[in-house]
Amino acid sequence: MQQKLKIAIQKSGRLYEDSVKLLKDCGIDVKNGINKLKTEAENFPLEIYFLRDDDIPQYVEDAVADIGIVGENVVFEKNKKVQIVEGLGFGKCRLSIAVARKDEYTGVASLQGKRIATSYPVLVENFLQSKGVKAEIHEISGSVEIAPGIGLADAIVDLVSSGSTLFMNGLKEVEVVLKSQAALIRNENLSAEQMQVLERLLFRIRAVKKAKN
Ligand code: ATP
Ligand code: ZN
Repeated sequence: MQQKLKIAIQKSGRLYEDSVKLLKDCGIDVKNGINKLKTEAENFPLEIYFLRDDDIPQYVEDAVADIGIVGENVVFEKNKKVQIVEGLGFGKCRLSIAVARKDEYTGVASLQGKRIATSYPVLVENFLQSKGVKAEIHEISGSVEIAPGIGLADAIVDLVSSGSTLFMNGLKEVEVVLKSQAALIRNENLSAEQMQVLERLLFRIRAVKKAKN
């Protein structure tokens, strides 16, 4: 019996459907496991774990899962010891700075000394530091886009795809901190046998990606 590779994917949310679809397009029969923690593929040596996206880098570092699908934004924010194997072409978004539409914005320097609300304190800190700007970073876990409207912050840094959420909250996008997509990540110490299974999976993923172009 071949050793099974454990893959962690998002339990529900923006990456869930595309992650399951990718595995299915790879010919792997994933039984719908949205209410379960775990399911097994019958025709491929893969065990699928459904987890919160934020936890996936840690689980992969700890080898609770061998590989995972998660946004690059989360991978870089969490800064865990994992390897990015392949960009997957879905979950595309950007981590952007936004300010009130009525505010004048003349460049990153205008954020000096301001209060910035975000769920991505590490990425924001790195970005500001690279620009030589010091600001007060307030970490909040959700609904970041309402922070300026309720007087909690002067600016926010949040994920954007269409920009409609920003617009609805009276904000404008002024700076892109990071462009992101979903990526396949792996534990750094996989066995030769696990690497073989990963290569088989990767071969199929690349074929699926090619067929889409
Ligand atoms: P969980 O309950 O798993 O913690 P979440 O609420 O943190 O979920 P989602 O909103 O489902 O996360 O987003 C998951 C990922 O989808 C993001 O980390 C990002 O990589 C990607 N994504 C793509 N477009 C967007 C967008 N417009 N807004 C937020 N995330 C996006
Ligand atoms: Zn999350």
